[in-house]
Amino acid sequence: MDKNQACYLCQGCGLGEALNFEKLQEVVEEAGIGEVKTHEQLCSPEGVAFIQGDVDGGVNAILLGACSCRVKTNEFDFGPEVIVERASLREQAVYPSEAEYEGEEEAGEDRQMLAEDYLRMSAVKLAKSDVPVPFQLEEAPETSVMVVGGGVAGINAALAAAKAGVDVFLVEKEDALGGFLGKMAKLAPENPPYQELEDTHLEALVAEIEGNDKIKVYTGNTVTETKGAPGNFDVTLSGGESFRCGAIVQATGWLPYEPEKLAEELAYGSNDAIITNVDMEAKAKAGDLGGIGSVAFIQCAGSRDQNHLPYCSAVCCTVSLKQAMLVKEANPEAAVYVIYKDIRTPGQSEEVYREAQRKGVVFIRRGEDYPKISESGGKLAIETADVTLNDTVEIDELDLVVLATGMKPNNPRVVEPPLVALGMDQEAAKKVAAEAKAACDDWSVLNLKYRQGPNLPTLKYAYPDSHFICFPYETRRTGIYAAGTVRRPMRVTAAVEDATGAALKAIQATKAAAGGFAVHPRSGDMSFPEFAMQRCTQCKRCTEECPFGAINEDEKANPLPNPTRCRRCGVCMGACPERIISFKNYSVDMIGSMIKSIEVPEEDEEKPRVVVLVCENDALPAIDMAARAGHKWSPYIRFIPVRCLGSINLVWIADALSSGIDGVMLFGCRRGDDYQCHFIKGSELANVRMSKISETLDRLVLESDRVRVEEISFGEVDKVPQIIAEFMETIEEVGPNPYKGF
Ligand code: SF4
Ligand code: SF4
Repeated sequence: MDKNQACYLCQGCGLGEALNFEKLQEVVEEAGIGEVKTHEQLCSPEGVAFIQGDVDGGVNAILLGACSCRVKTNEFDFGPEVIVERASLREQAVYPSEAEYEGEEEAGEDRQMLAEDYLRMSAVKLAKSDVPVPFQLEEAPETSVMVVGGGVAGINAALAAAKAGVDVFLVEKEDALGGFLGKMAKLAPENPPYQELEDTHLEALVAEIEGNDKIKVYTGNTVTETKGAPGNFDVTLSGGESFRCGAIVQATGWLPYEPEKLAEELAYGSNDAIITNVDMEAKAKAGDLGGIGSVAFIQCAGSRDQNHLPYCSAVCCTVSLKQAMLVKEANPEAAVYVIYKDIRTPGQSEEVYREAQRKGVVFIRRGEDYPKISESGGKLAIETADVTLNDTVEIDELDLVVLATGMKPNNPRVVEPPLVALGMDQEAAKKVAAEAKAACDDWSVLNLKYRQGPNLPTLKYAYPDSHFICFPYETRRTGIYAAGTVRRPMRVTAAVEDATGAALKAIQATKAAAGGFAVHPRSGDMSFPEFAMQRCTQCKRCTEECPFGAINEDEKANPLPNPTRCRRCGVCMGACPERIISFKNYSVDMIGSMIKSIEVPEEDEEKPRVVVLVCENDALPAIDMAARAGHKWSPYIRFIPVRCLGSINLVWIADALSSGIDGVMLFGCRRGDDYQCHFIKGSELANVRMSKISETLDRLVLESDRVRVEEISFGEVDKVPQIIAEFMETIEEVGPNPYKGF
């Protein structure tokens, strides 16, 4: 694009008093932007009109020296054809450096240098940015949605999508819709006053599905193949039918935890009267509860137990309360005991607990140990600790013992090879990958024809997930959403809400595919990775490291990108050793040039320079909030936002150190089991790549302490100054970079 650049410097929010604007103007002009204007408050209607007037006159590339790019986004949006780069003078120069460092005069000087560097870097970024042109699928994008699973979540997802005007393919492996809902006698109370058991309303739901001409139902079918990408998924079913859809909701529900595994602890299998909550529901559905004179429910049967299911299934307590009430309904004289570790009845379910107490159900808190179950005179007996009485309680003459077992997702478990495999030699890496593959379950729901495998990558207990905090329905395969108990254990009402959310997300994905923009977390981003293929060495790094399976490859190992699967994280760009992957507005050259534009003082000035490559998702907001909260830190730090730590190309670190920068910090989101990385493994990749930094440092004969990875979550704002101070101390200890001045 032909750029007509202009720079606008804001004097509001205290910037006017803190900075020398004449000098700032000179810096911007030296950086190649001839038109530089100041305004007393750019975000005011007058300030916006001031810029808009120039845009109307032909300005299409704007450098704003004002506040963080995370604020005032509406005010400074001048349309898709106008590039706006923002130098965060307020949050990154003025707010954090108001403190007197070594006298006010010097503090002012450092602050001024900081602001000037931010303007230099932003001017480079503006010069190297282009307006993204949205990717368009070759074939017309589909707007329909496939829902796999015809239980409560699947039915509600299909209805929600159809009500939004979208065609739906609903695939169910059984011959009838309903899933587990069809096996339930009643629902626990879901409506005020939370005392009456409720109907499942399954028949009405099925009738609604059958009467909706936007929903095509395929019962008795499974998915044998899913090819393509959001907007153009080609699906084949076991019955031989095939169709194309734009997005997918997987609502395949749950499987009960295997009671056979509880033979030792809870005598399952030793007596037909020891049954599970699933068996109990079948009895209730069959109207077979009247003969029960006494029953004990044992909660957390295998749940919250490191030897079985370490997590809480969230529903078993309420299910046992419901079943206890069903027994009381069938026979009010029945003796009903619930033996529990903790009764977990969130929200209004507490009322159900009270109602069960009112109906005469006896609750015994057992502590951690399982009760002992034995046979006595043709009946069952239980001996259990009662931690409330601090005693041991014996219950005998029991007709039935019900084990409240937990839920597992009805989804194959996928163990991804550890990232360290990337740093290994070929043979060792293959071995690690083979071990990971062997640890996976060898069945599939969607049978994806993805280079990365047929299944959705999962968390360790087989729940598919992409970011458990911010994006509840998203899986690691763009355009495919999980809803209901396949996503996490939940009750029927929660599954209905979940289904609606997932259906709307699926529709959003089809719109994104059609419009050529990204879904979460870079919603609306029109850029996508472009490959200069003539220099590709077929090393497969990009296909292997892309967290979202967006890149297939041909038989010669050439990468075949699928832009509608892409979330624009830039991990492939960081991975590519040939540096041939770039975005219109994010590239290896761009960030490298920004780093090189930083002015590095001579060694004798004793003003070190440190570059912090900051993840835009958690770390940058934390820095902004810390600045706004009044925290102060060294004025020798220069922050450069990156899309993800996984997008960091090692050459940037070499660029920084070889131009005299004293230290480089990579500041990103938390990794590990409770990761917060918005792109799943960006922080992990950064750490893996850090192991290779030592080669660069050795080559430059530099200390390894000069480079550090730090992780922070959004809520750890107060840690920002401490993390920076500790790194600055380290840099002071190792001394100036000997490359200064070269
Ligand atoms: S930008 Fe991210 S999601 Fe897109 S292809 Fe590259 S690594 Fe994959
Ligand atoms: S990482 Fe770069 S060189 Fe390697 S296959 Fe991908 S594009 Fe080609």
